[in-house]
Order: sequence, then C-alpha cells, then structure tokens
Amino acid sequence: MGERIQVSLACSECETRNYRTTRKPGQKGQLTLKKHCPKCNRHTVHKETK
Ligand SMILES: [Zn+2]
Repeated sequence: MGERIQVSLACSECETRNYRTTRKPGQKGQLTLKKHCPKCNRHTVHKETK
C-alpha cells in the first residue's frame, strides 16, 4: 500500500479544475491528460495542480 498524493487536474486554457486524481510520489514530470472541459466545451490538455 503506497502513499499517494492527491492532485487536481486543471484545464490549461481556462484553468478550471475539472478532475481529481492521485499520483505516486517521486514520479517525475508533470502529469498531463487530455480531458473534456465543460467550460471550454471541448477536449483540452489538463495539467496537474495541487
Ligand atoms: Zn477549459
């Protein structure tokens, strides 16, 4: 059972936090995922934020 860090995923265009996820500590690089943003009403790149 590893420790996990909770992060939010924010739209890189309007910066709305739309999703929540977890990541393992020590993982390198910033997590980016293409997700649907309800505000932009399309798929945009979401970046992890704390
Ligand atoms: Zn957006």
